[in-house]
Amino acid sequence: MKKDDINSIKTLLESPKAIAIIPHKNPDGDAIGSCLGLYHYLKLYGHNAKVIAPNDYPDFLKWMPEEASILKYDSQVEESNDFITKANIIFTLDFNGLSRIGDMQDVVASAKAIKIMIDHHQQPDDYATYKYSDVSMSSTCEMVYNFIEMLDDVNAIDRTIATCLYTGIMTDTGSFRFPSTTSATHRIIGYLIEKGANNSEIHNNIYDTNSFDRLQLLGQALCNLKVIPEYRTAYITLSQEELNKFNYKKGGTEGFVNYGLSLEGIIFAAIFIENHQENIIKISLRSKGDFSVNELSRAHFNGGGHTNAAGGKSDLNMSDTIDKFISILPQYNEDLKA
Ligand code: 5GP
Ligand code: MN
Repeated sequence: MKKDDINSIKTLLESPKAIAIIPHKNPDGDAIGSCLGLYHYLKLYGHNAKVIAPNDYPDFLKWMPEEASILKYDSQVEESNDFITKANIIFTLDFNGLSRIGDMQDVVASAKAIKIMIDHHQQPDDYATYKYSDVSMSSTCEMVYNFIEMLDDVNAIDRTIATCLYTGIMTDTGSFRFPSTTSATHRIIGYLIEKGANNSEIHNNIYDTNSFDRLQLLGQALCNLKVIPEYRTAYITLSQEELNKFNYKKGGTEGFVNYGLSLEGIIFAAIFIENHQENIIKISLRSKGDFSVNELSRAHFNGGGHTNAAGGKSDLNMSDTIDKFISILPQYNEDLKA
């Protein structure tokens, strides 16, 4: 972020403001962690801050400090619209195109507030007044830490803020193992632990709260795993019927796609999840090395993300979606061919 921009933001934050903080639809640990981390930071200085999420998020995030204060746009439209239209500042965190906030996009686009984007996804759109966009970052939470550092204020980070930021860095780096994890990430994590983030407890809250049903659903997903060795590709399907059978809850398939990628020799993995309510197949894509699932998702599945982790969707039925998926692999011969 440019020094001039930081100075302008510093001045802006010198007096109490009404500040909306918005994550992407179907927010994950990094989205909720970065929003709540920034929320607690801004509260220290008396701002009237509010996190407004487009919709609900998984139960495994519902222990986070003041999580219960988050407005959910899809069920609290009026209250949310009122806050957004009156806000002085809107932070948009962990996404970079307004289409990622679904039904909120019109009210946010037309809001008079100064907009500040903090995000690590590729190809950012141009809606923000101030843009802190860096695709090399492990997580938006790491960027919120950097943002506070740019404000010369890391001493203000307390246990609550540290807990929120730790959570998002942990979830977006696959517990510090993805290539985006740098020595700087580890130094920040060390600082957050010093400030009181309880690493073991946070890990436990996020990962060790499986239900029996969820493990059975994972079993089903692994039974459905298919491998296309000639393209070093693996994919999983889950039908709505299978999800229902195991009482699927929001976030219940988080991490499943990584099992495909853990197979020896596989560098591209996908999971296709049927969603009858939205009448789509939701897709998650993962890769190893230089093969960009962001590019593939943008080109074929109306999505995007990062080089090694992206999402998208398909309006076709499951079997046609899989046919399409298999039919496009030869276009990526150079990257994928065994
Ligand atoms: P996931 O597969 O875990 O849902 O998402 C992987 C990454 O891709 C995340 O960074 C997420 O924000 C991004 N992503 C997921 N779905 C979409 C989508 O439909 N469009 C775009 N642009 N990005 C997505
Ligand atoms: Mn993220």
